[in-house]
Amino acid sequence: MSLVIVGTVAFDSIKTPSGKADRVVGGAASYIALAASHFVREQELISVIGEDFPDEFLSVLKSRGVNMNGLVTIEGGKSFFWEGSYHEDLIGRDTVTTELNVLEGWVPVVPENSKSAKYVMLGNLDPSVQMSVLDQISTRPDLVVLDTMNFWMDIAMESLKKVISKVDVLMINEEEARQLTGLKTLPLVAAAVHKMGPKTVVIKKGEHGAIMFEEGKTFFSPAMPLEKVVDPTGAGDTFAGGFIGYLARLGDTSWEAKKQAVVVGSVLASFTCEDFGTKRLQTLNESEWHSRMRQLRAMVKFRSIRG
Ligand code: AMP
Repeated sequence: MSLVIVGTVAFDSIKTPSGKADRVVGGAASYIALAASHFVREQELISVIGEDFPDEFLSVLKSRGVNMNGLVTIEGGKSFFWEGSYHEDLIGRDTVTTELNVLEGWVPVVPENSKSAKYVMLGNLDPSVQMSVLDQISTRPDLVVLDTMNFWMDIAMESLKKVISKVDVLMINEEEARQLTGLKTLPLVAAAVHKMGPKTVVIKKGEHGAIMFEEGKTFFSPAMPLEKVVDPTGAGDTFAGGFIGYLARLGDTSWEAKKQAVVVGSVLASFTCEDFGTKRLQTLNESEWHSRMRQLRAMVKFRSIRG
């Protein structure tokens, strides 16, 4: 398997200015896998769910080439549950509840045929689980990407820093990047992250796009301006899935490929925001995202300036 992903597979209850959704299917790994499935035919999903999780969603993942050997169901267990409430600006959000449930004490096992994966996506979850997955990969992957959030910085900073030191790309939102480094301006934040280990830092800025730093180089992609944002939950995970899925498809980890991958991630993430949970991502087809890709490209192309 060329792409291995680990992250939560969960139930989410979400409140946004557009309305509410109760216990919809979510979790970082769900969004990542759906997004990456546009680029890779097969991927390994490492996660844990309870008996309460719906088979229908697992069938959707399977139909998109997601292998389930690394997905453990705990008998009688309850799946990870997250409840969030968004502010009017749809950028700020409050976590109302985080119930780890089956995630607590779970030790991930990477199936034998995925131990030589070339691309590894350490999606948002307990950093000690991210580390355990990475430790089981026997040959050095071409690219390891890590995403995380403030919840883990608050309760497991040391363990998080340990796994960050082992990855190639840190993907993080703006506010969390500042929390991680204690610095304000993004070039300084990026320099501090480079010192922690990752050669590349991608900072997600919500509706204001994403900025990537690598060895003195900087690249910025706007986000697709949307008339209506229903629910931004999972936009960051969708971005990550599009980013690594695209690179795995190319088999290329160069700066130029990563620039394209940032744009792919931004375009896919814009669809996630159009409906609650994973709904929109489940119906997204290739011609829709290709068309938005062309719109985004047209938005940033201009003739060179004459003096
Ligand atoms: P995002 O909006 O990209 O930050 O991702 C939201 C998704 O992350 C939701 O589907 C949640 O189930 C999941 N999530 C929320 N909190 C956590 C956490 N502490 N660890 C792992 N996944 C989480």
